[in-house]
Amino acid sequence: MRKMLITLLLILAAVYCLAGCRKQDKGQSEQIREEGQTKQKEEEKKDKAAKKKAENDTQVKDAEEDDQNSEYGEQDNDSENDTNSEDETESEDETESEDETESEESRHLIVIDPGHQRVQNSDQEPIGPGASETKPKVSSGTTGVRTGLEEYELNLEVSLKLRDELLKRSYNVRMVRESNDVDISNSERAQIANEKHADAFVRIHADGLDDHSVSGMMTICQTPDNPYNGSLYLKSRALADAIFEEATRRTGAERRYVWETDTMSGINWAQVPCTIVEMGCMSNPEEDARMSTEDYQQLIAEGIADGIDRYISEIEQ
Ligand SMILES: [Zn+2]
Repeated sequence: MRKMLITLLLILAAVYCLAGCRKQDKGQSEQIREEGQTKQKEEEKKDKAAKKKAENDTQVKDAEEDDQNSEYGEQDNDSENDTNSEDETESEDETESEDETESEESRHLIVIDPGHQRVQNSDQEPIGPGASETKPKVSSGTTGVRTGLEEYELNLEVSLKLRDELLKRSYNVRMVRESNDVDISNSERAQIANEKHADAFVRIHADGLDDHSVSGMMTICQTPDNPYNGSLYLKSRALADAIFEEATRRTGAERRYVWETDTMSGINWAQVPCTIVEMGCMSNPEEDARMSTEDYQQLIAEGIADGIDRYISEIEQ
């Protein structure tokens, strides 16, 4: 009788145990299912975040197009300036293409400012941050004595060739303008370069002198005593020197000189290394005619790009 009772108890215990295990199994499988659902939810969240990022990118792109300046090369170089949803998405995408991000960051960014615009803006702006002295926001520029070409047109033609040449050499490039019908002041042009933390801000101009016999190239930078950005003098001077040397070598243009001055708003407002390239004299009939040709414009663009290459390799040594 006692044996029977013990056997019965053992059987009952075994049945109870089995039932318990099955319940636990059920619990586990429910847990797994829940995890699956959580994963699915996370993935849905990711999809939503990706969609949001795509929408945001489009908005940022649209805004940039409204600004009338455009960036080439790797677009997200300046992600810290973009909308915050990008950070969220980035942490989720961490595993994706870190190498790619590195190579994007190692590219140098050049901001090109094709000087002037079709309609000048004679409203005044301070010649530097906090300055009481003012200058017109954008002056009209000069005109070719033989060709009648306007400086703003020539500046843009060469700048577009410089953009293409720099892209070929794997730089990131941002254009201050790609149209003549813009209204962007000289200080605003510099601020585009500042916001992008450009490695170099290169401003493309041509000269108009009273003495029509003078021809040749010149580059311009600030003095070491510039009250707004004198600390950038050494880098700007190196950039101005490198472009002066390489562009005169490539084009065979007369070598005028590197001019140091603190009278240029677009230089004074720059918080990155900056130079103005005076490509030649539109007041000299021969040089005016030469600068209007595609071939010579291409040489100028290549010469400036050679100078940028040289400057970048110098500062990296
Ligand atoms: Zn000019």
